Amino acid sequence: MTTGVSRRTLLIGAATAVLAAGPLVSVAAAAAAKVPKVLVIGLDGALLNRIKDADAPHLKALMAGGLTAASSLYAKPMAETSSGPGWSTIITGVWPDKHGVRDNTFVGANYARYPDFLTRVETAKPALSTYAVASWAPIPNTIFSSKVDTRVATPEAEYDTGTTARAVARLKDADPDAVFVALDNVDHAGHSSGAASQAYLDAIHGVDAQTGAIVAALRARASYGQEDWLIMVTADHGHTDAGGHGGSSWQERQTFVIADGPGVSAGSTRHDVKIVDIAASALAHLGVPVDPAWGLDGRPLNVPSADAFDTLRGALGTRVDESGIGSTVLGFTRTPPAGWSVDNSRMGTGGVTEWRGWSFTTDEFWTKTERDQQRESNVRSRNVFAVADGDEWHDRSVTGTFDSTLISPAYPVTGGRPATLAFSTHYRQEAPQKGEVLVSYDGGAPVSVKTYTADAIARSESLTLQVPAGAAQARVRFRYTGGNNWYWVIDGVKITAG
Ligand SMILES: [Zn+2]
Repeated sequence: MTTGVSRRTLLIGAATAVLAAGPLVSVAAAAAAKVPKVLVIGLDGALLNRIKDADAPHLKALMAGGLTAASSLYAKPMAETSSGPGWSTIITGVWPDKHGVRDNTFVGANYARYPDFLTRVETAKPALSTYAVASWAPIPNTIFSSKVDTRVATPEAEYDTGTTARAVARLKDADPDAVFVALDNVDHAGHSSGAASQAYLDAIHGVDAQTGAIVAALRARASYGQEDWLIMVTADHGHTDAGGHGGSSWQERQTFVIADGPGVSAGSTRHDVKIVDIAASALAHLGVPVDPAWGLDGRPLNVPSADAFDTLRGALGTRVDESGIGSTVLGFTRTPPAGWSVDNSRMGTGGVTEWRGWSFTTDEFWTKTERDQQRESNVRSRNVFAVADGDEWHDRSVTGTFDSTLISPAYPVTGGRPATLAFSTHYRQEAPQKGEVLVSYDGGAPVSVKTYTADAIARSESLTLQVPAGAAQARVRFRYTGGNNWYWVIDGVKITAG
């Protein structure tokens, strides 16, 4: 997205053009040259469904004016649902298996390889002004690096009041390009009274007013008309009804992204957005090109990301044989999307209906089948994904083994040129289970290109295919065989012709 010319230079150029060409050109010229800026507000321990319950007019106005996406977290062994891993994930744009923060000790942090997004801004565009302020000191002191222009850990006595006052003053009296603010009091109320309490709702009301003050300061800037702000609000983890987090329950694993800005549809709900997208979106908005070598897990909010499995969202049904999932949770179908098929001709019979052969499901539905079996670590799947789960299938009496093949549509390829097969995968191994990826060209015999017989947790795969001369189409098969073992997840399947 970079032009190689700073936006400020463009603005000056446009202003000069306006003087020369007269007022008719001025509106379009000024609009084209608006200065991009980013504000991220973090609300520690805030649950989206409780924001909806609360008296929170400012947050609800941002939701009405932009997009709202529920986003779920990992659990152990990837990382605890606590602030260290949560803020690190949001601020670096990668999941804990990359940034290395698994709990609040910060042991294993790899910010040298995966720095905070303000540091990336400073590296790419040192002239931009970056600012971070938080009530929880490890955010400015540990997660953001010293390359950030100004980092402030609010004195404890001032708490969120001081954090808000500092953010407001910065927006009012200075010219920041990227601002990160984190308020803490919702988490405090969660710990002392629980997410089901009135005190928790009252704390949301409090940070809502503070959010409103920060956004009002932004919109009151003298130069606001020449600025193009992307505002994002998020949380680092959820809270149980009784209070507390760190564990693997669905409620503790809840976070969200609210985003308001250019290219974001007002009042929209997204299922494909995750908290790792905040850093990527901030960088893209500020004109910092994201280098694939950085290994970011996020992508900009306005880059469409739907895959074929996501088209099934409206077709998802409620549980049939599963008992641990709420009876109203929509989350599974065994009917593949258009162009895809499932070959169950060698599949055993009986077992749990939901998982008899390849199924299509969501993080909520699938992880609620049974906690703490690393289903929570499936962080690189988005929205609806495909799963072959021999372990859950086997929870009712079965005959035979789990042997099911998911078959893709025929993708165009170029004969004699290499192609790239990319997908995300989450594979947990127990012998004699096996996962096999096979490719066939123009209806020929499928050839094995990859076999899984060891854990491949939350992995992004990219396989080079040697396309035979003369071949025009490639079809991919994912065959899972096993019994009462573990599972295999596939998502975002894509073939790029060479
Ligand atoms: Zn907490």
